[in-house]
Amino acid sequence: MTKYLVVILVIVLVVYLLRRSAAKRVEPPRERRKVEDMVRCRVCGVNLPRSEALLSRGRIYCCDEHRRADERD
Ligand SMILES: [Zn+2]
Repeated sequence: MTKYLVVILVIVLVVYLLRRSAAKRVEPPRERRKVEDMVRCRVCGVNLPRSEALLSRGRIYCCDEHRRADERD
């Protein structure tokens, strides 16, 4: 009887460890992307995610207003 208990305990432990390592594998890329993709507006210097930034002729802006202001000069 004790043998079966040990086997069940080992299986539960293995499943638990596999699930934990699988969860770990999923999370880091999400965190890295958040930190990596920050860019700076050319006009006001504000930092914003690359996906929200405006790109024009290789220059980065936070909004269309600042893009136009920079192209005017
Ligand atoms: Zn700006």
